[in-house]
Amino acid sequence: MDSSALADLAVSGQINCLCDQKFFSELAKEASDIAGCFSSRVRHLLNLHEHKIKRFITFVSQCFQNPQQATEQECRMLIEYVIMNALAIRKILKKYDKVHRSANGRKFKSKMLSEHIEVLQSPWLIELGAFSMFSEPNGGRNDEPLNPFSCDLSSTEPKMTLMLPDRVKLEYNLLCPICLELVFKPYALGCGHLFCKSCACSAASVLIFEGPKAARAGSKCPVCREAGVYGNAVHMIELSLLLKKHCKEYWKERAAEEGAEISRQTKMYWDMQSKYMIGY
Ligand SMILES: [Zn+2]
Ligand SMILES: [Zn+2]
Ligand SMILES: [Zn+2]
Repeated sequence: MDSSALADLAVSGQINCLCDQKFFSELAKEASDIAGCFSSRVRHLLNLHEHKIKRFITFVSQCFQNPQQATEQECRMLIEYVIMNALAIRKILKKYDKVHRSANGRKFKSKMLSEHIEVLQSPWLIELGAFSMFSEPNGGRNDEPLNPFSCDLSSTEPKMTLMLPDRVKLEYNLLCPICLELVFKPYALGCGHLFCKSCACSAASVLIFEGPKAARAGSKCPVCREAGVYGNAVHMIELSLLLKKHCKEYWKERAAEEGAEISRQTKMYWDMQSKYMIGY
């Protein structure tokens, strides 16, 4: 929560004492630190993962230990870290409301969502979940710690599910709100909404080969209408790998469609360019 939002709350009489103001501003700082630390650690881990796969392919004969192992272990640790912190903040807010007989804790929770510091809604958590499921053997061995992530891609509402230790289930919708199909080469916009790369591009009126990040700065999310969400869009590489692995036929179809669309756009682009040239 920024200070102006706090001031708004204070003016409207919802926050009465200074201790409340301090409490919520410190909690907001804590939450945004957690979200920031988490996303940079996931980025680092997944970069490392790509790097290790390349190394693994090159030096496969000299490899005695599975290079995946260390990464998977850190992946588990990060998932635990994020769940632990999120539950702690939830408990604190619940307790706060109980003690103060207020609804400010609950309000703060929705504030965290709208300001994208709720780490359980981070696209990086979805990436981490996808990564953790990718290497799982089918059925999962009994001696392996159970993965709190699971996914259901065959239904008409494809989703990824995260089971929290308190049995609360979080669901991440994997249906593209534009084409109403499973997200293909997904991007998460800054607001957290997921789209196919090609759908995000068409919504922002940019060409597919330019990518969603090429959108004008003020472009809005087609779902929640939040502006400026394309610049910090996250290319969901791990999710893409997982979906491709589980939906091979669908992926092939979409890849062919996208390929045709890209060449159509490219041709149009060069036709335009040459028209300008001739005009000049
Ligand atoms: Zn108080
Ligand atoms: Zn789509
Ligand atoms: Zn959105």
